[in-house]
Amino acid sequence: MSARTIESIVAGQQVTDGAGVRITRLLTQAQQRRLDPFLMLDNFRSDDPKDYIAGFPDHPHRGFETVTYMIAGRMRHRDNAGHEGLLENGGIQWMVAGRGIVHSEMPEQEDGAMEGFQLWLNLPAANKMADPWYRDFQSADIPEYTTPDGVTVRVIAGESQLRQGAVTREVTEPLYLDIHLPASSRFEQALPPGHNAFVVVYRGEVAIAGRKLRERQMAILANATDADGVIIEASSGAKAILVAGRPLNEPIAQHGPFVMNTQEQIVAAVRDYQAGRF
Ligand code: FE
Repeated sequence: MSARTIESIVAGQQVTDGAGVRITRLLTQAQQRRLDPFLMLDNFRSDDPKDYIAGFPDHPHRGFETVTYMIAGRMRHRDNAGHEGLLENGGIQWMVAGRGIVHSEMPEQEDGAMEGFQLWLNLPAANKMADPWYRDFQSADIPEYTTPDGVTVRVIAGESQLRQGAVTREVTEPLYLDIHLPASSRFEQALPPGHNAFVVVYRGEVAIAGRKLRERQMAILANATDADGVIIEASSGAKAILVAGRPLNEPIAQHGPFVMNTQEQIVAAVRDYQAGRF
């Protein structure tokens, strides 16, 4: 295997979102073209309820998918189609906003740790106005395997070493792995050369092609036609997510929680939302 190198390292930015939730934004609008089809990645991690208790009251989305991975904590989801679900320790919610959804994401705990990631995945132009859809996966529903090196891999989406993930999506073909590396271990994952890929470390540090990647940093992996995967190494225990997908190469027009292809479609999204048509 010829392994991908790190093209650049991005440090997370501290931001406040929802009704006052403190998060680290790793993938910002500045990387949307480079990391097409991914639009945003937030990491939340706190033991202090003040950082998360306000939650995310009712808000809309149109034109993309959200993937919420709850590593620790409990969050309740409700939407205007009458769906409700509890996302907790190790579980995932995969939501396709399509033509429009209004939902809330509120913590269902008053103390203790809350930790996880929310990833935004773009929809192809042809599917942006599809019917909304979502599914909750409990931790036990997420395929997991351990390599001979002792690396535990949770396959949230896509395929890893012949294991199918909890979710498979056409067109963007997302891969989403949560990788737990013990001391002195190494993990290899095949990646199609044309797919954009990144790694975020959330415990300890790892090395990729000889370059260190520390906690709360995101490595954008170089796309080289002769590289067929990535090798992640850890000298002491570390945890990281690896995300990859096929770029859409379509125009991106974003206004907050609406991501479409043109400004006219954004104006229509705001109008439809204000008119209660979501
Ligand atoms: Fe949301």
